[in-house]
Formats: sequence, C-alpha cells, structure tokens
Amino acid sequence: MPRGSRGPVAEQASQEIAHWSCEAYLFTSHRSPKYLLRLLLKYPASGSQVRRAKLSKSLYTPRIPRSAVKSQASLSMFTYINPAVRERLIRDGKLLRINNEGHEVDMAEAPAPGLHVNILGPIPLPLARGHAQPTVRWYASVRSTELSEVEQLAGTLREQGGQHLFSHLASSMAVNSVLVIGKPEKSENPLVRVHSNCLTGDVFGSRRCECGPQLESALDRIAKDPEGGYLVYMSGHEGRGIGLWAKAATYLLQDAGENTYQANRSLGLPDDSRDFSDAAVLLKYFVHGRRLRLLTNNPKKVEDLTALGVPQIERVKHVFGVDDHNLQYLKAKRDWGHKLGEEDISSSE
Ligand SMILES: [Zn+2]
Repeated sequence: MPRGSRGPVAEQASQEIAHWSCEAYLFTSHRSPKYLLRLLLKYPASGSQVRRAKLSKSLYTPRIPRSAVKSQASLSMFTYINPAVRERLIRDGKLLRINNEGHEVDMAEAPAPGLHVNILGPIPLPLARGHAQPTVRWYASVRSTELSEVEQLAGTLREQGGQHLFSHLASSMAVNSVLVIGKPEKSENPLVRVHSNCLTGDVFGSRRCECGPQLESALDRIAKDPEGGYLVYMSGHEGRGIGLWAKAATYLLQDAGENTYQANRSLGLPDDSRDFSDAAVLLKYFVHGRRLRLLTNNPKKVEDLTALGVPQIERVKHVFGVDDHNLQYLKAKRDWGHKLGEEDISSSE
C-alpha cells in the first residue's frame, strides 16, 4: 500500500512497528506474540512490515512474561493443531508436559508455578551419516507458556479468518530438540551433547567457528558409544544467546579487529547470555538423575547445568574443527575459560 494512502490508524501502527524495531536494536524491551498479533490484525495484508517486525524480533530470544500468560486451563480450548489430534497424541503418550524437576504432569491441569516444557515425540529420524545410517528418536520441546500463548493467539486469528498468518505466530516459539541415539535408557552413564544452534556453522558449514564439526562429531561419538546418549539442540542460543542479527554485527566488528567477546561488549551485550534451564529440564526428564558424560570444553556449561539441578556431570573434552579460520576465535574462548590446551588450538593446515 502506498504510504500516502494510509489512514491515521495505519500510520500509528507503522510507527509502532518502527518503534519496536528500534527497541529491539537497543535490546531494551520485550514484545510478546500478543503484540505481534495486534500488528497483524491491524495490518493483515502488510507482509513486508510483518517480516520487518519479525526480523527485529529475532534479535533476542522471545520469552513470555508470566504476567501476560493466562492460566493453562483457560487456554485449553485453543490450539493451533487440530484439537482432536492433540487429544489423541496425549492419549498415545506422544505429547506430554514435564515440570521443572523433569517429572511428567497432567496436561489437563493448570500447571503450578515454575518452568514447564511440552514434549512431542518420539519421531523416528533416519540419518544419513557417511557409511552409518542410524535411526534416532527425535523429540521437539517448547515452553508451555510460549505454546499456550501462541495457541491462544492462533484461536483468535482463526476466528478472524487469519489462518494464513499462523506461521508468524509459530515462528516466535523457541522449539528445542532432543535426539535419543542408540539405547541410552539402559545406560548408567550416557554420553550427552547440549549444542547451541549456530546457523552459519551448523547449516552453512562456516569455519569462522567450530560449531559444525562439533555437532557432527557429537552425533558420531554418541552413535558409536556403546552406552548411547542424547543430543539436546538449543534453538534459541544463536550467537551465545544474542540472536542471529546481532551475531552478524559481531562478525563485522571481529573483522575490524575485535575478538568474539569484545564484539559482544561493543554492542552492549553480555559475553554469554545463554539460558540452559530448558536443557536442564530435558536432561532431568531423559537422564533421570543418572550420571552423564557431557561433551564440552566449557566448564561454565557444566556449572550452569549443575546449578539447575542436573547431577553427576562429568565433562568430556570435545575439540573438533580447529583450523586457520577459527584459531583466534578459539584462543579467545580459551582465554575466557574454555578448557583448551596449546595442542588443541594449533592449526592442522
Ligand atoms: Zn558457531
């Protein structure tokens, strides 16, 4: 729509979107999917503005303020998947909710205070990995509060004939994954990787970091391990929690001479803002208090998970993918506290 043809309401909404973009750049505010819905309802046909709003929103990990979330019971009539299918999945034990202690709770009841996570699965996932073709079991997980909010908004959108906008709502959820590899249920000491998502490394194969090789190697190590294990993939951890947009900015700052942590600080962001509470809940549920071996060079990850109630973690060194492109990055990580020896960060090239 040409700018001149907008009415006052449209102009106001446009300013709200611009305001929101600005706040997201400055990391000063949080906007829930409910806010997105208000914009969508004002601007049902304005795809570019919605995309622009989404882009800004992706600068941070969305978390819904507890005060904005109504009780679970009042939301149960809404769902953005067919309610009959949802009921069947619950009956079949394929959709369940766990509490902060990793214990299953009744989905029909309003959850008590504290973090709750919905889990969907297992879904068989046949992997093509060189000569090996293991079939793993995939579980998708999302915070109950985030899912409830999206389901409620989806109900409102459906009433107004706005189903075509569902994807904008669903994309606001941070959906994590657990891959169950081998038969770790029988193990007293499964092998575990808690991997923070990295689009450039995991998907594009960028060598600016070693995330891609670390993910690949973790899958291979767990698949080969006689104990089997779990890979927890944290979808909201891009750029150590600052989001993809800000991470792109840090890359530009790094190319101007700053290291990975200095670049975060230059943007006014923490060195590491990853929240491992969802990972902790998932490990409590899947590992049930058994010992576990965690593939990481980062002692802080062990400390965080331990502080969140995951017991008996033994750190297992996991150095892969070191080359000339990421040597400085890895040295910065070592200086920051990662357990990397001189022999670990010498390029093979
Ligand atoms: Zn990476």
